[in-house]
Amino acid sequence: MLVDSHCHLDRLDLTAHDGSLDAALDAARARGVGHFLCIGVSAENAAAVKALTERYADVDCSVGVHPLDLKGATPALDWLVAELAHPHVVAIGETGLDYHYEPEAAELQQEAFRLHLEAARITGKPVIVHTRAARADTLRLLREAALPQAGVLHCFTEDWEMARAALDLGFYISLSGIVTFRNAEALREVARQVPADRLLVETDSPYLAPVPHRGKPNLPEYVREVAEFLASVRGISFEQLAAQTTANFRRLFPLARVAQG
Ligand SMILES: [Zn+2]
Ligand SMILES: [Zn+2]
Repeated sequence: MLVDSHCHLDRLDLTAHDGSLDAALDAARARGVGHFLCIGVSAENAAAVKALTERYADVDCSVGVHPLDLKGATPALDWLVAELAHPHVVAIGETGLDYHYEPEAAELQQEAFRLHLEAARITGKPVIVHTRAARADTLRLLREAALPQAGVLHCFTEDWEMARAALDLGFYISLSGIVTFRNAEALREVARQVPADRLLVETDSPYLAPVPHRGKPNLPEYVREVAEFLASVRGISFEQLAAQTTANFRRLFPLARVAQG
């Protein structure tokens, strides 16, 4: 069984499934995907992702405010902690730093990131970190927070040095379809080296579909392509890769309702 550890089910382009999320999830299930972690990005979409966890027993969610969704203000700590009390909100995020698109908002992003890390400390739930063009500051804030529980750097696109620093902090590394892209040799090197007990797979759908679907809307069913590709890069069978990453997902997100098998 596979888990899509990071997808945006409330934002999918469902054209390929006649507009039906039921059909999109069924297509993924038919390809061995047994669980989906649907990611919160704003106060506005928190209700939508929580509603999906009521509708589907194999969907859990996170709540947080994406660094590019801050709209000039940090969320309130009280709000975040209250949202995290929901039993199907199994993680915090996505939060983090993205200086690629909004370098001018670096200070505000750091403030919001610190606040999510504080909510993580209060609730004990794992944090889902988005980082782009902000290596040093991401690592610095994670070190300062020194959370007792693990978290994950999602859609990892950085180099081995950053991966190793995050692993040293107890973090997991989640790889998306970007690892299949032709020019991603440095990322494939990271994919070879991440310890077997720290690796996760995700689609980050609807963004960044893996080869051979590159350029089309991404869907949770394509986590299969990501996993098959990673298995070949790491020189193991698909079944082994699926078993390892699913075990890792269960360990990192103990509250997730992942079915047995
Ligand atoms: Zn992200
Ligand atoms: Zn995301």
